[in-house]
Amino acid sequence: MENRYVKADLLIIGGGSAGCLAANRALELQPDLKVVIFEKGDIKYSGSIARGMDALNIVAIPDFTTPELYVESITLSCSGIVDAPASYEMARRSFPLLKKLESWGVYFPQDEKGSYRTLQYHPKGEFLTAMEEPNLKVIISRKALEKGALAVNRVMGLNLLLDGGRVAGAIGVHVRTGELVICQAKAVILAAGGTARFSLPNSGYLYGTFDYPGNTGDGYVMAYKAGAGLTGMEYARRAMLIKDANMPLLAITLTRGGRLLDIFDHIIMEGQCHDLTSMEQAFSEGRGPLRIRLSHLQPEVIEEIEHILFTTERPVQERFFRGRGVDFRIRDIELWPTECQLCGGHGMAGIVVNEKAETGVPGLYAAGDVACVPKQHLTGAFVFGEVAAEQAVKFISDHPPGRLDQEQVKVVEDRRCRLLSTTGRDIHVRELEDKVRRLIGDYVISPKNEYKLLRWAEWAERFKGEMEDQVMVRNGHELSKLYEVEHIIQCATLSARASLERKESRWGGAHRRTDYPEMDDQNWLCHVVLRQGEHPDDIRVSTKPLISMGGKGAGP
Ligand SMILES: Cc1cc2nc3c(=O)[nH]c(=O)nc-3n(C[C@H](O)[C@H](O)[C@H](O)COP(=O)(O)OP(=O)(O)OC[C@H]3O[C@@H](n4cnc5c(N)ncnc54)[C@H](O)[C@@H]3O)c2cc1C
Repeated sequence: MENRYVKADLLIIGGGSAGCLAANRALELQPDLKVVIFEKGDIKYSGSIARGMDALNIVAIPDFTTPELYVESITLSCSGIVDAPASYEMARRSFPLLKKLESWGVYFPQDEKGSYRTLQYHPKGEFLTAMEEPNLKVIISRKALEKGALAVNRVMGLNLLLDGGRVAGAIGVHVRTGELVICQAKAVILAAGGTARFSLPNSGYLYGTFDYPGNTGDGYVMAYKAGAGLTGMEYARRAMLIKDANMPLLAITLTRGGRLLDIFDHIIMEGQCHDLTSMEQAFSEGRGPLRIRLSHLQPEVIEEIEHILFTTERPVQERFFRGRGVDFRIRDIELWPTECQLCGGHGMAGIVVNEKAETGVPGLYAAGDVACVPKQHLTGAFVFGEVAAEQAVKFISDHPPGRLDQEQVKVVEDRRCRLLSTTGRDIHVRELEDKVRRLIGDYVISPKNEYKLLRWAEWAERFKGEMEDQVMVRNGHELSKLYEVEHIIQCATLSARASLERKESRWGGAHRRTDYPEMDDQNWLCHVVLRQGEHPDDIRVSTKPLISMGGKGAGP
């Protein structure tokens, strides 16, 4: 196979929420910039948004809420593990962002006095601002393409190219043909999302995940191998969502007066949904399945909920509930724990970045779920997509381009050819993925303990051996799946390593160690950071102080 070469000023890896906003912003600032986007799927519908979305979860509306209050609120939700400047910056830019989206035609409902519809999603302040936009992904991807960004669809970013310590582009692989695409670039923004395919969902379907299943931690692994730090990897997030469908609805139903009940009809939450720990506790005590009840609400509120659920975010819910015979006026909605995921958007797992989206590797920026700005959601992806673009444009104008090192390309090429040889290989890549993710469920996620976390390390070694010699790869598609599974394994190893280090329990079910059951602020009110040493298996672990609003603490 011939390699394909592309030249860019700015390469963006991942054309989801953060990637589209980054491309648009870079071209707003410098219309003649050559911006290339490697997108694993098709940019029109790829990523967490897929089609539309029902809210910007964080907007600090002037004269109503403030960025300061947001920082207070997010600090509570994250049990204190937050660097304040980045969260503050996101909240500060959130209202201008809303206005920009509105000017693009994105609909944010307002009442007759012109106030935006806000709901309580955080412990303090009504930051969640309703949005009704079934075409959000089409709108933002079109903006980027109309300005001149080149989307290279179905190309999965695999390795960053380095020139000395700085980034010089990336190598991608076409997910159907296995062709390598080499992009030499002056700066790179990682926007490849989190690790949605981590443990197996309850349904057993590999792709039946809450988050976009194309996000397999590729960004985490690329950044780690390039020398950036990862943090929060011990935080493996699990939600409680619609049984068998894993689709979101808590923020839509509970914030509008829905009730969350256990089997004794005790109300666990009503009117808000920030206390996920109480749900986990009820479930683990055997008081599940938990259910959402809407039947007590006024008919027009139920209609509003149906309208949002069935049109905006995951319209397939209408067919799903009809198929199961669930009418919200009569029947409750049964919930079940989802799979665990690593994510810097809903969770806290990601690349260490500062408020400028810098990773510490010159020329490399990260935005969205791949970066750790805790629970930044869609607002964070959009805001930091823009921030990363602003910084990248500046970097490009201030620095000469890096050099392309063909030796780095050859290493990837040789391995690709080795993996594509079928002789003596008989394990199907799907079987490998199923087993890897089942064992992540057994050994890496809560309840955790030293024994289990060390057992994962043994299994990871074995899986890596199987990948090299026994897994059968018959075409480009299976090859890309194998790379994805490799990244899932690496993310699990990084998560297990961080979990071993954090000798306490924190964040409810996201990091519960049975051998260290208490939260220990004395020793662990800090970040656990992972960096690559001599080679990918040499994981160097350290702790980093939290950065307060005054900016005290270490940067990326
Ligand atoms: C079901 C659901 C509902 C949500 N609802 C809300 C909400 O109502 N309000 C809110 O504020 N937030 C919400 N969020 C969170 C929000 O959508 C995400 O935080 C945000 O979209 C993340 O943006 P991102 O660009 O980081 O990731 P994504 O939008 O997922 O984009 C990542 C992109 O990278 C691509 N990719 C992955 N790996 C590679 C690779 N190796 N090479 C090239 N491309 C790659 C993927 O194909 C994808 O297009 C929701 C999330 C989900 C999953």
